[in-house]
Amino acid sequence: MVRTIELNTRQERILQIVKDSGPITGEQIAEKLSLTRATLRPDLAILTMAGYLDARPRVGYFYSGKSGTQLLAEKINLLTVQKYQSIPVVVTDSSSVYDAICMMFLEDVGTLFVVDHSSNLIGVLSRKDLLRASIGKQMLESIPVSIIMTRMPNIAFCFKEDLVIDVAKKLIEKQIDALPVVKTVDGIKYEVIGRITKTNITKALVDLANDELL
Ligand code: ADP
Repeated sequence: MVRTIELNTRQERILQIVKDSGPITGEQIAEKLSLTRATLRPDLAILTMAGYLDARPRVGYFYSGKSGTQLLAEKINLLTVQKYQSIPVVVTDSSSVYDAICMMFLEDVGTLFVVDHSSNLIGVLSRKDLLRASIGKQMLESIPVSIIMTRMPNIAFCFKEDLVIDVAKKLIEKQIDALPVVKTVDGIKYEVIGRITKTNITKALVDLANDELL
């Protein structure tokens, strides 16, 4: 299990100083930052406890040598659905396939969620579900989406507290493009409150590369 800890700007600076100049005493770090040793004490304690720094009496602090990938993994493990989710685009189960196609174009999304009158999740519609239904001579205005949608309990979903990386794993495993973000209602139903897609996950990747997470 990767330990996750969010470092503040000062802690990042301390880490950099120790990387560049370690072993170095707390006093010397404080001097470089024009702060008092007492002000730095909690930050140094956090960095030491989290395993970024080691401290030896009379020697000072030195960088414990977490690898770049370890640090990256820690950052990835901080990304939650909440921060990257989008607004869900939904249709009701009595909507026609024709309406769903219009909605998909209008809202410029690749996945629609099908809900009942209380916004509870009952189905998912992908582009190919709608394309498949459009092959042939059916009257798209008269086919309800409930006939062609993927329905509960076969829907993969997530909660806003979940990790983006776990969503990514689910998308790969199930070979799908999006998950509805839900909250539990009455312990049995799931209200749709968001949508997380491959695009959202790509955005998280770009943020990581730009180091814009913290
Ligand atoms: P596309 O059909 O455009 O390739 P997907 O790969 O997302 O899009 O969908 C593939 C199939 O998986 C579709 O039949 C769709 O209804 C279903 N599906 C899409 N999202 C989910 C989900 N979150 N849970 C279960 N099934 C899904």
